[in-house]
Amino acid sequence: MSHFSIQCRNCGKVLENAYCAFCEHCKDSLLVTQYRDSRLAISEAEGVWRFNWLPVHEPKDTQPGPLVYRSEGLAQRVGLENLYIAFNGYCPEKGAFLETCTFKEFEAAIVLQNARESSMEGLIVASAGNTARAFAHLSALTGFPVVIVVPRMCLMEMWYLESSSAVPTLAVGDGDYADSIDVAKKIAVTLGFPFEGGVKNIAKRDGLGIVMLESVAKIGKLPDHYIQAVGSGTGAVGAWEMAERFVKDGRYGTRLPVLHLGQNLPFAPMVHAWQKRSRTLDPADLNPEYISQITTRVLSTRYPAYSVKGGVFDALTATAGLMYGVENDDVYAGMEMFLRTEGIDIAPAAGVAVAVLRAAVKRGAVNTKDTVLLNITGGGEARLRQDRKTYSVIPQFISKKTTEKEIEELLCHVLKKSS
Ligand SMILES: [Zn+2]
Repeated sequence: MSHFSIQCRNCGKVLENAYCAFCEHCKDSLLVTQYRDSRLAISEAEGVWRFNWLPVHEPKDTQPGPLVYRSEGLAQRVGLENLYIAFNGYCPEKGAFLETCTFKEFEAAIVLQNARESSMEGLIVASAGNTARAFAHLSALTGFPVVIVVPRMCLMEMWYLESSSAVPTLAVGDGDYADSIDVAKKIAVTLGFPFEGGVKNIAKRDGLGIVMLESVAKIGKLPDHYIQAVGSGTGAVGAWEMAERFVKDGRYGTRLPVLHLGQNLPFAPMVHAWQKRSRTLDPADLNPEYISQITTRVLSTRYPAYSVKGGVFDALTATAGLMYGVENDDVYAGMEMFLRTEGIDIAPAAGVAVAVLRAAVKRGAVNTKDTVLLNITGGGEARLRQDRKTYSVIPQFISKKTTEKEIEELLCHVLKKSS
């Protein structure tokens, strides 16, 4: 018997052996992993595989987790006594070993292992940046085939750990991240590989939930507050779901951490919707023109997991959460402050999280003695480049209007090149 099943958040129906599914009754509800063991167990295994609350059976490849530590520099700077940082990136002298420099590596590791164990032969992945690098790297390391689709506008900020000839990568020339998802779905049909499913994929959310797993294991209890920058919101939903498991366990506290989530202004659809306590995003807030004005393209999805049952709206409601809009200048200031106080360079999205932390303290939403967990979703890129070569991403270009026949021809060419 498997150590987990998958249950609809809305009607409670339990599904066995479902892959990237929605409930047949409730099309707008996420499925959530139910682990038979409601108590957290930590084994002797290495890295992230020592936790029992992951939807995998026999992982073989090593996968380091986040570096979780109690902050001194930044904590003092913002005036907190119990600030913990979950650093997801590369800084080996401090014990951070993610060469992809992003927490998306956990998502990729769990999704690929779960897909392999679900007898999938390959996956199609759509990404605005970091997810692409994480999947490309683990596909190259483990030999599990993936095809990656990205928007052209994100190429400038993208990099791989491998030459892009090793991983088939397509760039949508005339669209954004949302268009890339549409093209990825078309390719999935043509190639017969499943689309990785976005927020629907339980392995993705449980993988991102590793940040909460590792942090609670380190702190010994649930934090009072959890801070993160959000694009699709999948990571925040994963953190909330993992926190719910800890509450059910009973040994780590009875209250869910308050979610403090940030987006980069002016593209901040979830910030505006939550201000109105609306479950629906306003189409005016999804204007692609705003995306060109933000410094963090990785947070630019127009399809966030906000309205869906069990998504960001419900996570904010359940935790009495707050949303923050962050100006570009405050993103840069956040990056600079982290570098000065903690000694590691961080990615712009993580700069959004630092800005949220400062704003939360300033408005009194966080008290001096509260236990606060700051999720630094990416960092250490400058440090990594001292140790190893990185590559720019050189894709095959594709149009969002592309036909199935064109996709077939292109894939033939691209797959031949990378094999
Ligand atoms: Zn249902």
